[in-house]
Amino acid sequence: MRGAIEGEYIALVRTLHASAARALPEQAAQSLVGHRVVRVERRAKYQLLHLDDGRTIEVHFKMTGDWAVGPVTLPPPALERVRIETAHGMRISLVDGRAFAVVRVHEAGATFLPELGLEPLDVHFTGELLRSALANKRGPIKPALLDQRVVAGLGNIYAAEALWEAAIHPLARANRLSLVRTTRLAEAARLVLERAPAARYYGKRATDTGHAYAIGDGGDEGWNVYDREGEPCPRCAAPVRRMPQAGRSTYYCGRCQRV
Ligand SMILES: [Zn+2]
Repeated sequence: MRGAIEGEYIALVRTLHASAARALPEQAAQSLVGHRVVRVERRAKYQLLHLDDGRTIEVHFKMTGDWAVGPVTLPPPALERVRIETAHGMRISLVDGRAFAVVRVHEAGATFLPELGLEPLDVHFTGELLRSALANKRGPIKPALLDQRVVAGLGNIYAAEALWEAAIHPLARANRLSLVRTTRLAEAARLVLERAPAARYYGKRATDTGHAYAIGDGGDEGWNVYDREGEPCPRCAAPVRRMPQAGRSTYYCGRCQRV
């Protein structure tokens, strides 16, 4: 599918089923014609077709959806629900027996968040995005960071370390954080993942980030606060504290991490 449509101009879009037409009304479908698909991205179960005008076509196969790709000169496939044709004569058909698959269009800059949040190492993971992901999180920031819909792949240890790095208290109200602080937090999350042993799972090696604070030498893993209760905070030397939060142990510095 990517090879057939990436970089191509859309020449025709047609919905061929009532449920497909509900998600992609005729007007929205027609508004795609003449635009170029600049990039195709897959994220979790979502496929995102980024258009030249900043809009995004979101595709979710749900249970039985799939693509059928071929030249427009061939007969269309069975169970075709949405048809996209390119200016180069290729037909990309969403085929779906159950007709639960969804194709919809998002305006440029729209913050539609998939069920799974971005990973901190994703280039699109910014303070702005994090702030909007936290917008309806009224509780404290630490458990919010463990919600995979907010951030994907940030576990208990990294969440604690990122909050320390960003000097944000684990009890700070998630949806009250300023853009400055969510930006610092997004950078901190990236930093801890980049230098963590687990960084290899992300296809990156730990990098020398030139950060102002040395990694503490309290444990084998070199955490700054995690599992270091009572030891001095590497930044301000106050003793690291531990508290239970949402069923987990949270480590933090009560002096330099602010609510
Ligand atoms: Zn401190």
